[in-house]
Amino acid sequence: MKVKIFIIIGMLMCSATVFGQRAKKVVFVIADGIPADVLESVATPHMDAIARSGRYLRAYVGGGKGTYSETPTISAVGYNSLLTGTWANKHNVWDNDIAAPNYHYPTIFRLFKDQYPQKKIAVFSSWLDNRTKLVGDGLPETNKIRVDIAADGYEHDTIHFPKTGPVHRMHRIDEEVTDKAVQSIRKEAPDLSWIYLEYTDDMGHAHGDSPQFYEAVEMLDKQMGRVWDAIRYRQDKFKEDWMIIITTDHGRSEADGKGHGGQSARQRSTWMITSNPALNTYPDHYIPGVVDIFPSVARYINITIPPAAGRELDGVPMIGKVSLADMKVNYFQNKLDITWMPLDPAEQGQVKVWITTTNNVKTGGADDYKLAGVAALGQKHLTVDVKDLPSGFYKVVLEGAHNTLNRWVMPAEKK
Ligand SMILES: [Zn+2]
Repeated sequence: MKVKIFIIIGMLMCSATVFGQRAKKVVFVIADGIPADVLESVATPHMDAIARSGRYLRAYVGGGKGTYSETPTISAVGYNSLLTGTWANKHNVWDNDIAAPNYHYPTIFRLFKDQYPQKKIAVFSSWLDNRTKLVGDGLPETNKIRVDIAADGYEHDTIHFPKTGPVHRMHRIDEEVTDKAVQSIRKEAPDLSWIYLEYTDDMGHAHGDSPQFYEAVEMLDKQMGRVWDAIRYRQDKFKEDWMIIITTDHGRSEADGKGHGGQSARQRSTWMITSNPALNTYPDHYIPGVVDIFPSVARYINITIPPAAGRELDGVPMIGKVSLADMKVNYFQNKLDITWMPLDPAEQGQVKVWITTTNNVKTGGADDYKLAGVAALGQKHLTVDVKDLPSGFYKVVLEGAHNTLNRWVMPAEKK
């Protein structure tokens, strides 16, 4: 009898904990191809309001310029850097063909669904491939992840979205996608949603820096106002905490704003707006990258990232505690010179340096890391002798108390 009572009390306590927590929900938006300078010069009252409740940040895409992780400033490439928290050298989407995404680097949706199969994910998108190829809805390679709520594929529907008409077709599609997202947020409140809107990029390609492009950004702003209204409706009427992150996938060329894909400053220059006022100090010290969104969202909606996946992430969380950032590794004379920066000077911790010469994660395997050294966090550097570990490839992971960083090193003379 006692045992039963304990069990019942235990169950009640568990339930109280579960139901006492406010549900956390995330919406991330990619608005295509808007350089930071354009967003900052066009009147965007709705996005300004979201930023006032949270933050506006300059950001970047394109990976490590001139390094192994340099990543084309191309649309699908940027989306997948957000979805996987990695640069193109890992996720393997190099252009909009999306020929062979490497699903061994899981998307944020995949980790979320693996951990919370009963929770709902949603994709509202003006481009079908985002769900079918990048998220990989139903594919064996993604363990047949199921996107619970989807509104997309309108670009292939010439009946409801005829190719001619007084209003630009892609704007009409973006409007439909926004309507569907707003309805779903209000009624179904998916736990993790992606909204993708394309019209801004179409106007950028067609007209470059122009009134038409700026007007497209104003239209986007109105759409974001509707999404924000839906989120506030949920927050007011239900016990839910929502975070929205709005960003873009690339900037545009300096000359006329028409092109993108390269590594110039304006093509790499992006931005983020979030409603979350409780970011850590990382974006105060460093320009955040598109890959930083993954670990930030993970922390907000309590995704436990498996260690193997965590070691591959190229991003730093902008939410919660962070031990170290700004990792650099140089190879010289059979040694690896490794540096980092502590985020909080008051943190008294250690940094473990892990090294592997394999990259089995790329093909679905596991890497055998060796502990190459331990240093005080405040030491900010460590030199590791790799004379006994000759290789043309090193993967180095720094493990602090609150986050890990990784870099690849490919000594030139071993290539
Ligand atoms: Zn784009």
